[in-house]
Amino acid sequence: MPHSKDITSLLQGLNDDDKKLIEKAYVFAEKAHEGQKRNSGEPYFNHVFETAKILAEFGMDAKTIVAGFLHDVLEDTPTPETELEKEFGKEIVTLVNGVTKLGKMKYTGAERHVESLRKFFMAMANDLRILIIKLADRLHNIRTLQYVKPEKQKRIALETIEIHARLADRIGMRKLKGELEDAAFPFLYPKEYEETEKILEANSKSNQKELDLVTNEIQKTLKEQGVNIIEISSRAKHKYSLWMKVKRYDMNIDRVYDIVALRVIVDDIENCYRVLGIIHGLFQPVPGRIKDYIATPKRN
Ligand code: MN
Repeated sequence: MPHSKDITSLLQGLNDDDKKLIEKAYVFAEKAHEGQKRNSGEPYFNHVFETAKILAEFGMDAKTIVAGFLHDVLEDTPTPETELEKEFGKEIVTLVNGVTKLGKMKYTGAERHVESLRKFFMAMANDLRILIIKLADRLHNIRTLQYVKPEKQKRIALETIEIHARLADRIGMRKLKGELEDAAFPFLYPKEYEETEKILEANSKSNQKELDLVTNEIQKTLKEQGVNIIEISSRAKHKYSLWMKVKRYDMNIDRVYDIVALRVIVDDIENCYRVLGIIHGLFQPVPGRIKDYIATPKRN
């Protein structure tokens, strides 16, 4: 049967049984949500499709992708749990039920509740896949937040920053954390968002040029010294975290040292310190700015 959406990217690298299971979930979810619309006017199915796609991009296993397709079926359609279990088994039902339960937790901004809510999320997600599905669900919802009623936007944006992004950080999904924050940022603090955009724009050209030069030089030197590099890459800082930092430094952008960052990945700790030594030979370190997160790891 032809699909309304291209699912090839969701099936990459999976065996035939897994592919079949995902196709089955696709068809099941599309039928279950038939006729339902999102605030944007598009079919509701698009949301669960995008959630499943995000999970595939994370590299999650087939069952998690399947649960992504089915995550709103018990909550938002008349489908009985027994039918879901008959078609997809107990494990999928457990995942879907877990996501549904997490969806019932709402954060409204009371500061004293925030940490206990985060703890609750972690405890509820006794299977970490449940939390990851919830985070993928939220990522798609926050990407489409412009279609939600304005009075609801702020609450959802705040919850995303205070709960979902923080949990993504806690389980080591740093890129997802940045994406969640940056998507929520303009809804929660529109003026500040605009200012941050301006700061980034003013710095972006010179920063990129500098970064390219430095990357080349480091790459060349490491090669000469015979260091095996797994990966060398650079990035601009995410908008929300840049804003938080500028704020912490009394709005003085010159005190923010990591608008851009460069990362060198090597295969062991010994090489890591060796690379650090070589880089310090090329560029003089700023006193008091060196942090060793190997010797003293961060919580995340
Ligand atoms: Mn959902």
